Parts: sequence; C-alpha cells; structure tokens
Amino acid sequence: MTTPPVHPTFHITGQSGTSRTGRITTAHGVLETPAFLFCATHATLKGLSIDSIKAAGTPILLSNTYHLMLQPGSDLIEQLGGIHTFMGWDGPVFTDSGGYQIFSLHHGSVSDEIKGKRRNMSSFPPVKVTEEGAIFVSHRDGKRHHLTPEKSIQVQTELGADLICVLDECTPLHMTRAQTERSMHLSHRWGKRSLDDFEQRKKPHQGLYGIVQGGIYPDFRKHSAEMIASMPFFGHAIGGSLGATKSQMGEVIDMALCDGALYVRPIHLLGIGGVEDIFQGVSKGIDTFDCVSPTRLGRHGGALIDNAYWDDAAEDWRPKNHINLWKSCFRTDPKPIDASCPCSTCALYSRAYLHHLLKAKEILALTALSVHNVCFMNRLMAAIRHGIATHSLGDVRNRWSCAALMASGPGMS
Ligand SMILES: [Zn+2]
Repeated sequence: MTTPPVHPTFHITGQSGTSRTGRITTAHGVLETPAFLFCATHATLKGLSIDSIKAAGTPILLSNTYHLMLQPGSDLIEQLGGIHTFMGWDGPVFTDSGGYQIFSLHHGSVSDEIKGKRRNMSSFPPVKVTEEGAIFVSHRDGKRHHLTPEKSIQVQTELGADLICVLDECTPLHMTRAQTERSMHLSHRWGKRSLDDFEQRKKPHQGLYGIVQGGIYPDFRKHSAEMIASMPFFGHAIGGSLGATKSQMGEVIDMALCDGALYVRPIHLLGIGGVEDIFQGVSKGIDTFDCVSPTRLGRHGGALIDNAYWDDAAEDWRPKNHINLWKSCFRTDPKPIDASCPCSTCALYSRAYLHHLLKAKEILALTALSVHNVCFMNRLMAAIRHGIATHSLGDVRNRWSCAALMASGPGMS
C-alpha cells in the first residue's frame, strides 16, 4: 500500500533577529531548516552511494530537470516508479526547472559571476528565448529542444520530486537594466503559466516554488518579490544575477526579501553554497541553499575544514574553508582531516593516505573526500540551526567561517 500524498507544509520554529529555523514536511520526510541541498545532478550525488549519503546525515537531495529530461527522460523515470525509487532515496527531493542549466551553460553560472569569472559565450550553443519558452541545443547530442513553463512542470511532475520550481529566465549580470526588466516580466508570466499548469495536474504531494528575479536593481527585485508573493506558491526562490561581489550579493538578497521582512513561505537561494555565503544568507532569513561545490571540491582533492584546523595547521596561516590534500605538506601527515568529524573518512584515513590516493589517481580519494565534505555541510547546517535556536549564531560563525577568523587575525581566535 502506498503512502497517501500529503501537501508539503512549512512552519517557522524559531527566530533570532532576521535568522530563523523552520520545518518543511513532505511526503518523503521532514527537512529542518536552514538546510543545504546537495546536487544529485543526474539522480546521483557524484561518486557516493545512497548508504554513504545517509550515513553522512544528508536530509535532502536536489536533482536537475534539464539533465534528467535529456537522459534518461522523465517519462522513463515515471514509468520506473519516480525519482525516489529510481535512485533508491526515500528522503525529500527538490528539482529545479531546467532554466538555470539552459541559461548558465550559455551565460556562465551565478557563482562564477560572484567569483568574477565570465564565459566566452561564442564557445557555447545559443539559447533562443520567446514568449512561449526557451529553445536550446542539447549539450549531449546537439538536438534541438523547446522547454516551456508547462513542459518543465510536466517533466517535474513525472519525476515526482517533493519540491519543484517554475521555469524562469536566469539573467546574467552583464544584461542591461532594460533587458533585465523585460526578462523579469517574462519570468513572471512564465511563473503564472507554471502555476496554472501545476494546479491542473493535481499532484498534492508537490510544493511549487516561484522565483524572484530582477537582477541587481532594487526596484525590480522589490517588484518581483511582491509579484511572487501575490501568487499562491508554496515557496520562494531567489534567482538570477546576485551581483559581482559577496557584498553585492548581500544587497541583492536584502532587496529580494523586501528589506528583511520575513515571509511565511520557505525561501531558497539558488546556486549558492560557500560557508560565508551561507552565514550571510541565514542572517537575512534564507532557509535553504544548494550548490555543487562540496562534492566538486572533493573530486578536486579539497576537504572542508572549520577554523580549529588553523590552530595547528600543516601549512602557512592563510585561513580558507578548505584544504587541498594534493599539497606536499600532507605527504607525511598522520592526522585525519578533522579528528572531531564523525564521518567514515575521518574515522579511517589520514591526510597522508588521502594525499597518496590522489597522487596514485585512486577513485577512493574522490569518494572519501566527498563523504567528508557532505558530512561537513550537514554538521555546519546543524550548528547553524542550533546557533539560531540559542541566539549564538555569531559564535557559530566564529568557529566555522574563515572570514570570521581572517577578521580576528593569527593567534587571536
Ligand atoms: Zn570527516
């Protein structure tokens, strides 16, 4: 007998300033917020088994509509029982609309912009945007596809995720004010069409997120936030360009939240997952985040660490939130990445062994580092929730964010 579908719900469970804790209840379990959503892009968190993901305390996965509609196809996943059954994951799943991938493959990603990177657009296939939707060429086989708001909702209802998104046009920073305005209004019309289509499909276990656009312009962001708030979405996501610097990102978040006014709906910040960025977002009232960075970092030999690492670092005092196990200073280092981390990697392996595995090009290095980074993010979010509940978020940031350590200087932490 299958579990009867339930409407997802969101309740704010605590507040500290403009930060808040909450609980999103879905047909596939409860998500305590603030939370980090790991990107299982192709219905897998790269290199990790579902067992190891669960053992690292992961509460939710995010999969990509764009990738799954191209391979293997959402109709096949539906036929095989939906995305939860397909990937063997019984917890909550979030899917994006596909728009972010279509536009970021062409324009570059939001996190690239904040890091000051910009793509050579001539080397990527063009995207044609019409009132109807987006026409794009598959990066896999060069075939032409037409993604409309209705098609995106169809794909996401076939996949069967618990939390899903409207199709939006994800505008890059270099768009003009006039282009950003035109695009924002188009995204609003697409949002309305997405909502209408979603309501007709009657999938009560799914919650639909509207997306706030408007680029870096305060009047547009305010207008977009009010427009999305006026429609009966389950949640709000903040999309599009968040600016060129971290401080500008903070300003854009403020604009999109209408100067810090707390919504009764869960708020997701799309594509952001750096440790300091999460503290900045949480301090303004953001509930959930997603980013490929923890597992991507692991696959490149990086391990996330908290500030205690820098008390007796194997390398020069130059605090970052990750170490690079490729560095020769780890060749003879017998310590685990973090002796206080409960993950299987820190229980079993030394930094020297991980360094060796990387040099020997062994797959275990990438898996082991990803396990640690997933566990790190889950511990970080648990610490943040505790910090909000106990009104001590500043202390939590002092322990976990290298930006706080840098501000205090060497030997003063
Ligand atoms: Zn660990």
